[in-house]
Amino acid sequence: MPRDDELKPSGGALSASASAAAGGTDPLEPFRARMATLKSKIDDLPAKVRLSEGRDAAENVETESNRVADLANRVRELGYAWEKDLEARCLDYRRRWQELRPQVLAALDKESAALSGRVTQVAYQGNYALQHATNPATADQILSDGERPVAALINETEAAAKTIRGMFDNFSSDLHREQAHLEKIQAMLERAAQSKIAWLPGEAVVGAVKAKWDRDGKDDPRGYLYLTDARLIFERDEEIATKKVLFVATEKQRMQQVMFEAKLGEIENVLASKRGMFGNEDHLDFNFAPSANARQAHYHIDGQDANEWQGLVQRVKTGGMESTRVTALSDAEKQRLRNAPTKCSNCGSPLTAPILRGQTDVKCPACGSVTRF
Ligand SMILES: [Zn+2]
Repeated sequence: MPRDDELKPSGGALSASASAAAGGTDPLEPFRARMATLKSKIDDLPAKVRLSEGRDAAENVETESNRVADLANRVRELGYAWEKDLEARCLDYRRRWQELRPQVLAALDKESAALSGRVTQVAYQGNYALQHATNPATADQILSDGERPVAALINETEAAAKTIRGMFDNFSSDLHREQAHLEKIQAMLERAAQSKIAWLPGEAVVGAVKAKWDRDGKDDPRGYLYLTDARLIFERDEEIATKKVLFVATEKQRMQQVMFEAKLGEIENVLASKRGMFGNEDHLDFNFAPSANARQAHYHIDGQDANEWQGLVQRVKTGGMESTRVTALSDAEKQRLRNAPTKCSNCGSPLTAPILRGQTDVKCPACGSVTRF
């Protein structure tokens, strides 16, 4: 015979379901969150199987390949004299994407059609489970039967999306790296254009970096360090307080002046170092020939790697950059590029992608026909 207290739990359960029947606690309460999740997954299925994230990503690649070409044109306008293969690289990105894009779109269409064809059946199974999970004793089994096909379709959709992304992931990250690279160059050249440096005819900027000229440690000038194919220049460019009230600057003045320059040939040595508590400060020590304004200078640069700068200085000094120097465009070539077609000769669609130097034809994004110019 069971003792009295061993009978109590079942007695308690009985009274709980009795109170639920009377409109008290919800007997399906333990399943409600699960049911809500299943419901929202069912609701999301039609959008998910359209593979819209993949389509958006493909769209972004399209936009970015044009943006990279725009950036290439922009840095040339700003006088970028290096990386003569830049335009060829951009044209190659565009060509590769023109080949890849139809494959990606076809794969998206094919996969999403196949997945979409299963939504009705799977949603029916899910909804059937939601409607019939009314008894706490059988709800777990019934919900599982509805969850399984929904989860399977979601998994297959995600696998398909991943496979399609794999078709252009590498391409997309190459393009992204190129864009970041060109944005850096653009920022450098825009910075140089704002400086008051009297540029020499044909002088080409190689590098520009925010820097502090470390001298006596007190009120050291801040500005930008420039490296060109002819000189190393430090231009002070900072706001300094001209009036202070209780240590707070109330009036400021922009100080912008060239404080140091040395000819490339006067740079005898450059040494990069990482300093600071975490080794995250980038420093450059220069030694100059006796003909220079100073025998040495120490710059604390900000936002770029000192070792890269050391390499850059050495490359310029040894003439290593020359092989990448771009040749000036002839007037005839400028004219030819200006006359590039703006409409497809076959279907009349507008051709809006940027035209790059060296480009001799343009492919219509609408009909795929090629117009030469
Ligand atoms: Zn066309």
